[in-house]
Amino acid sequence: MFDLTIQDIKYLTGVGPRRAILLNKEVNIYSLHDLLYYFPYKHIDRSRIYSIRELHGSMPYIQLKGKILSMDKVGEGYKKRLVAHFSDGTGVVDLVWFRGIKYVEKTFKLNREYIVFGRPTVFNQRLNLAHPDIEDVSEEVLSNLGLRPYYNTTEKMKRAGLTSRVIEKMMAQVLSMLKAPLNETLPNYILHKEKLMPLTEAIENMHFPKNPVKYREAEYRIKFEELFYLQLNILRYANERQKKYKGYVFSKVGSAFNDFFYKNLPFELTGAQKRVIKEIRRDVGSGIQMNRLLQGDVGSGKTLVALMSMLIALDNGYQACMMAPTEILAQQHFETIQELLFGLDIHVELLTGSVSAKKRRSIHSGLLDGSIQILVGTHALIEDTVQFSALGFAVIDEQHRFGVAQRAKLWTKSKLPPHVLVMTATPIPRTLAMTIYGDLEVSIIDELPPGRKPIITEHRFDSNRKALYQFISAQVKSGRQIYVVYPLIEESEKIDLKNLEDGYLQIQNEFPAFKISKVHGKMKAQEKEEQMQCFARGKTQIMVATTVIEVGVNVPNATVMVIENAERFGLSQLHQLRGRVGRGGEQSYCILVSSFKLSEDTRKRLEIMVQTNDGFEIAEADLKLRGPGDLEGTQQSGVSFDLKVASITRDSQLMRYVRAIATKIIQDDPLYKKVENKILWSELSRLYKREKNWGVIS
Ligand code: ADP
Ligand code: MG
Repeated sequence: MFDLTIQDIKYLTGVGPRRAILLNKEVNIYSLHDLLYYFPYKHIDRSRIYSIRELHGSMPYIQLKGKILSMDKVGEGYKKRLVAHFSDGTGVVDLVWFRGIKYVEKTFKLNREYIVFGRPTVFNQRLNLAHPDIEDVSEEVLSNLGLRPYYNTTEKMKRAGLTSRVIEKMMAQVLSMLKAPLNETLPNYILHKEKLMPLTEAIENMHFPKNPVKYREAEYRIKFEELFYLQLNILRYANERQKKYKGYVFSKVGSAFNDFFYKNLPFELTGAQKRVIKEIRRDVGSGIQMNRLLQGDVGSGKTLVALMSMLIALDNGYQACMMAPTEILAQQHFETIQELLFGLDIHVELLTGSVSAKKRRSIHSGLLDGSIQILVGTHALIEDTVQFSALGFAVIDEQHRFGVAQRAKLWTKSKLPPHVLVMTATPIPRTLAMTIYGDLEVSIIDELPPGRKPIITEHRFDSNRKALYQFISAQVKSGRQIYVVYPLIEESEKIDLKNLEDGYLQIQNEFPAFKISKVHGKMKAQEKEEQMQCFARGKTQIMVATTVIEVGVNVPNATVMVIENAERFGLSQLHQLRGRVGRGGEQSYCILVSSFKLSEDTRKRLEIMVQTNDGFEIAEADLKLRGPGDLEGTQQSGVSFDLKVASITRDSQLMRYVRAIATKIIQDDPLYKKVENKILWSELSRLYKREKNWGVIS
């Protein structure tokens, strides 16, 4: 059969090698098949031809049929333009070009009939159409005056004549070459049951819809398919893993857990913490290796859940480890855990890059002989030299700083892979979580410990700092500490660093009596560490920093977070930063400082921050504003968001729907053997053949 996927685009009439290269490079079209999947971004109804007499200056795009009576070049320099006087017998309208004048003069002839398409405006009291589309009046054009497709083209493509119109012609040509229907990509029973349009008809109607209803049906079919395969792919990974990976069985809860719970636990667990601990207990008792993502807003008490889960591992004769992305965080976790376990006979150690060689050796041997039960650390913990006698449970905090490969290393540390609990404070909207972490179980802590005072967030313009400084001063004088955060991104690193230095000097000038720390990513690790420690121990009152302090740092006495150039941060980043305060008993504040001129999007972002403290609400809003590709976690996840028609945000309902269908298929056909599903597995491997096996571990 005539296989479109191997038909090179360059053999299409009118394409040739030069345009073919542009199509490859600019829009990733190599084969005729690729071309058919290059869908228009809109259609315009061209079924009606207007007469010039009817025109007025506030109409949408319209279409005229008539002749050019004469052409004039007018104006000089940037005002230079070509004006063609166009008439259909009912009146005259001016067609105007500011660019491409030579091309227009050469191409269009006087007194020949054309179809002209554009938007009428009034200029110098005359009606005109600027840069209209012009076509010869042919049988083909006249018979094709329905919904016409408009394709995205880049500047380079346009310069080589690859306009939307030309792509439209290519599309029509390929569709007319189809002697037989395209290979169907969904099994018959699904098409039937879901009343989906067959593939070929759908593709035709995506480009040249017979009417708007047909277009919607075609679009639904394509969206369905995109989301369905996205979900099927994820679920297949989950299925594979469940088959492959047996897990240690933690059948009991013993003295480690119980002693802690009854003797040491300083407060009541929240309902959400209890629920999540139950979910984890069920997993670790099931015989299948657990991969669970624990989402909980900053300050929701994830550490405690992690600790109690680790204690269950200990009760069953296994070791546990907890990995943090930075040294300071590892240090903090270590201290917290030691404090919480005070007086209980549990051996905890800390392993980071700065641990001495001697200490390191003793940790290595303690892990091997099983005397160390809990190891807290940084990346140092996954080095090859670190071996456990029986690692049963691994916690990974603030997941987005760890790459997949690093996490996978954990698996080599014991006979069976340990149960893995990944914790993140960057809430992910449900639909996105379903996609990125679709093969992970997800637990959510959606409740803060009681008695927290919600952080008060305010938006201020940078032109008025006086009140801000007074406020800072009052807070410091009553014993509190302050963060002042500046953006730092690579593209504008120099300017950003200068802003930070200037800000630092300004604050120093303003508050000569206060001690100030300064931290940014360009400092040596050790210096950074020292500055952080100074602030954490209360030796300095103000911390001027870039976002290096974003993740996890816990200084309960800090009550004010000032974010400079707040307009340059994303929502989830702002939320993370805000989470650095509000950790103690005092009322905390987040002050977003921005310039006065703000784009609509930015204004919305800052408004959302002022309105809500709820991380999930913020994540939803972020997803809507920015789309999934930019959200934290999506890059590392390896999920391809190469959806042409469907949208993870707008089509979340359809996503849930197809996920249920895909789930059922895998349940009914776990070995992929059923004849009626053959199409599914071959299509899946075609679609995802280049994708790495990211699903193995979170
Ligand atoms: P995160 O989820 O951001 O990691 P932490 O685990 O650091 O949050 O907890 C934040 C603070 O809340 C800690 O000081 C912790 O001791 C406290 N905390 C945790 N759970 C509870 C609870 N159930 N009741 C009261 N305080 C709690
Ligand atoms: Mg934490």
